Amino acid sequence: MGESKTYTGGCHCGEVRFEVTADVSNVTACNCSICQKRGALWTFVAAEHFALRAGSDDLKDYQFGKKTIHHLFCPQCGVGAFSRGLTPKGDEMVAVNVRCLDDVDVAGLAAKPFDGRSL
Ligand SMILES: [Zn+2]
Repeated sequence: MGESKTYTGGCHCGEVRFEVTADVSNVTACNCSICQKRGALWTFVAAEHFALRAGSDDLKDYQFGKKTIHHLFCPQCGVGAFSRGLTPKGDEMVAVNVRCLDDVDVAGLAAKPFDGRSL
């Protein structure tokens, strides 16, 4: 296990900016229908460890299937830097796309497969 650090991140155009405290030593590569197409690498944090700093009014929401997850994205550049949902216990959770964090070398991260397709 690594340690939690605070990172900044955002979409491509800079409209959406956030701060998150997360341990990115293990990231999740999900094979569900949307992650497959997006190629996102995820880290999951409790909502209190995530702070949206810019772009909250502009975010577009995309939902599909059971509609339990809000796949938010920037309407200007189209990048989905994070998604919101609930844990199985019902706590608010944020999935952050590690590829959207500043100064993180994703090539050096261990990506753990997750079989989201079977959910
Ligand atoms: Zn953008």
